[in-house]
Amino acid sequence: MEIDIEIIRKLAQPSTLPDGGKIVLAVLDGLGGLPIEPGGPTELEAARTPNLDQLAKEGTTGLSIPIARGISPGSGPGHLGLFGYDPLRYEIGRGVLEALGIDFELGPDDLAARGNFCTVDEEGRIVDRRAGRIPTEVGARLCERLQKETSIPGYEIFVRPVKEYRFVLVVRGPGLVDGLSETDPQRTGVPPLPIKPLTDDPAAARTAELLNDWLEQARRVLANEHPANSLNLRGIAKDPGIPNFQEIYQLKAAAIAVYPMYRGVARLCGMQVLSTGETMASELDTLEQHWDDFDFFFIHFKYTDSRGEDGDFDAKVKVIEEVDGYMSRIRALKPSVLIVTGDHSTPALLRSHSWHPVPLLMWGTTVRPDDVTTFGERACAHGGLGRFLAKEIMPMAMAHAGRLAKFGA
Ligand code: ZN
Repeated sequence: MEIDIEIIRKLAQPSTLPDGGKIVLAVLDGLGGLPIEPGGPTELEAARTPNLDQLAKEGTTGLSIPIARGISPGSGPGHLGLFGYDPLRYEIGRGVLEALGIDFELGPDDLAARGNFCTVDEEGRIVDRRAGRIPTEVGARLCERLQKETSIPGYEIFVRPVKEYRFVLVVRGPGLVDGLSETDPQRTGVPPLPIKPLTDDPAAARTAELLNDWLEQARRVLANEHPANSLNLRGIAKDPGIPNFQEIYQLKAAAIAVYPMYRGVARLCGMQVLSTGETMASELDTLEQHWDDFDFFFIHFKYTDSRGEDGDFDAKVKVIEEVDGYMSRIRALKPSVLIVTGDHSTPALLRSHSWHPVPLLMWGTTVRPDDVTTFGERACAHGGLGRFLAKEIMPMAMAHAGRLAKFGA
């Protein structure tokens, strides 16, 4: 029972609730987990979470399916779903994500690619796809050289370091399109591939030609460098043109996140990104400082995912317990609706993102409670919301905040 975002756009209205109808979406990245031994607790179940349990008891719960059953999402599509978009319809390319990850403000005409410095032999064959993992400072110096010594006539270019051998290339100007192949052959012993158009669009052929010319210049600049004497471009992509979040929902929306990539995805959706510190506690300070200025807050907690990817069950438990401690600060602000969930599961057992549905709790004055009294995977499987696609969370939150008009007479 999915509903199109265009229908929500028609039904969205200012809140009818006397409390103002503010919504907080708290995302614990990679929240969902697995037991490390058969029958044992998951990370969330093992964590001591009196505040989350109280919210689950007063509110309602369920399991969110990020993309579709069986699909393990990246964090980009995971968040698009949470924001109410169909992640299968709006694809954020790797180049765009990489640019967002360094806080680069992408414009609608920009084409972004992930770049990798590599090492080639005298015949131009790749011998190391990561150029010996050169230090970040070396990567930065090479980017500076490319920025100064290369150009694409009629276009603006930006060559920005990311980390070690990785960088971002952004080309700005009219008529650029994506739908292009990558240069990285994904193996050594062969030269980098030329960029080819993957569609019949003449603009794709022209964009490929511009990039191939630039690659030739860049390889000439790097020829005398060692070990990073060549480069590859991957994931060449444009801003996918996501409809504006604030317009669809008629919400003044703010995003609070420590990691640039999440700020970037929120910015792509049209949210206002608030500057914040490096810690989770500082994100709460930011929320409190800006409480009066917005109707909707997306607040992102990264470290549940990081510790899951480390395979560190106990450390993930600790992060969840720390976030639990912040719930009283959020409640004290008196939101109309508070949602706590994740963008996907990252079980420590798997050390990676997984396809498992994600526990979710929704709390608010108009939320109908269920029998669930703790926040955990098993409990949420019995929750009143059942199982639903992540993109259905926003319509539910909007309704509970008094922000959706009646459908039909
Ligand atoms: Zn994630």
